[in-house]
Amino acid sequence: MNTAKQITWHEPPLAETDPEIFALIEREEAYQRDTVRLIPSENYASRGVLEAAGSVLSNKYSEGYPFKRYYEGQAQIDAIEELACKRVAELFGAEHVNVQPYSGSPANFAVYAAFASPGDTVMGMMLPAGGHLTHGWGVSVTGSFFKAVQYGVRENDHLIDYDQARNLAKEHRPKILFCGATAYPRIIDFQAFRSIADEVGAILVADIAHISGLVAAGVHPSPVGLADVVTSTTHKTFRGPRGGMIMCKKAHRKAINKAVFPGLQGGPHNQTTAAIAVAAREAATPEFKAYAQKIVENAKALAEELNARGFRLVTGGTDNHLMVVDLTNKGVPGKTAAKALDRAGIVVNSNTVPFDPRTPFDPSGIRIGTPAITSRGMGMGEAKRIGAWIDDVVTHHEDEAVLTRIAAEVKEMCSQFPAPGLPIG
Ligand SMILES: *Cc1c(COP(=O)(O)O)cnc(C)c1O
Repeated sequence: MNTAKQITWHEPPLAETDPEIFALIEREEAYQRDTVRLIPSENYASRGVLEAAGSVLSNKYSEGYPFKRYYEGQAQIDAIEELACKRVAELFGAEHVNVQPYSGSPANFAVYAAFASPGDTVMGMMLPAGGHLTHGWGVSVTGSFFKAVQYGVRENDHLIDYDQARNLAKEHRPKILFCGATAYPRIIDFQAFRSIADEVGAILVADIAHISGLVAAGVHPSPVGLADVVTSTTHKTFRGPRGGMIMCKKAHRKAINKAVFPGLQGGPHNQTTAAIAVAAREAATPEFKAYAQKIVENAKALAEELNARGFRLVTGGTDNHLMVVDLTNKGVPGKTAAKALDRAGIVVNSNTVPFDPRTPFDPSGIRIGTPAITSRGMGMGEAKRIGAWIDDVVTHHEDEAVLTRIAAEVKEMCSQFPAPGLPIG
C-alpha cells in the first residue's frame, strides 16, 4: 500500500508474489489515468478512501451492530462504524443510518425484506425509462419475488410520468413505492412521489445511488425527511468505496437493521465502512460542494456541445451529472458507438433510450456522465473538447486512424489532470 509513513514488511510485495494480478492492476491504473471516463456511475475515490478500503479491517468479523456484536474484539470496529453512521447522518440530516449493505442492490433488497413479503405488490420505474433493475424489473428477483408494477416516462418529453405513477398506484396499491433512477437526466420531484405514496399508504423509498454526492452538496433536492427510506450506493457521485447505505426515519430503524442483518447479510465489510466514513468526511467540505456544482456545470457544457452538433439528448439536456444520447438520427447503434469511443480513449456505456425499438444489449443510445472527469479537475473547456471528440468518433467510427489520433489527444489532455487515488504515471 502506498501510505505516507514508511512501512517495513516481512513479506514480499504483490508484484513478486503474484506478478500476473499485479500487472493487470497496473494496466488498469494506466487505463484509468489515460482515458476520459464518462460512465456516470463511475468515479475516482481519493487515496484516503482507497487506503481505508485496502486495510486490515478486511480481516475482521463483526456480525451485529456497534456494541451488540456476535464476535469479540470490536473496539476499533465499533468506533469506526459509529463514526461512519454519525458522519453520514449529519451530512444528509438523516435520523438513522445503516452502512452495512454490501452495495446498492443489496441495500434495495433489504428494503423489500423490511417492508414486503413475497407476492406483495411493489412499484418502481421501469428499466428502459431509466429505472434500476432492483426497482422491480422482470429479470431481477425484485420483479419475480414480488408483483411489480412499473411506471415510466412520457412519450412526448421523456420526463417521469407522475400521472401514470399516481394512477397505477391507486389501481394496484403497492406496499413499497420506489423512486430514483439510474439513467434519468432531470431533477426528481420527491414531493410528488411523497403525495402518491400517502394517497395509497405505501412506504416511499428514494434510491439516490447516482445522485447522493449531488444531494449531499445541495445540488439536487434531498429526499431525506420526505421519503420513509433513502438508499444509496457509496461509489458513484458520493466518491466513496464500493458499498451501499440506507437512511431512514427513526420509526423504521429496527425494521431496516433487522433486514440487513441477520435478514440478508452476515458480517459487514469493515474496510468499506471505514472508507465510507472517510468519504463522508470529504463530502462535508466546501471543496466537495464546489466539486458537485462543477459536475453539473460540466454536464451542461457537454450537453450544449452535443446539442450544437446535432445530437439528440433524451429530454433535450441535463440538470444533473448525466445525459442519455439517442444516436438514431446519426445512424450508429449505441454499442457500436460505445466500442469506437473506447478505442479512442473515451469510455461510456451503451444505454436504452425511452421507447427504444432496439434490444437492451444493443440499444439506440449511450449514457454519458461527468463525475469522474470533474474529480480530475477538468472544466467546461475540457467538456466541450470531449463533445467535439465524441462527434468525430461517432462520425468516423470505422476509421481506425481517426480513433488512434483521438486516443493520443485524449491521453495528452489526461496527463494534465492527475486523478485522485492514482499514482502519478
Ligand atoms: C447503481 C445503482 C444501484 C445498484 O448499485 P450496485 O452497487 O451496482 O448494486 C441501485 N439503484 C440505482 C438507482 C443505481 O443507479
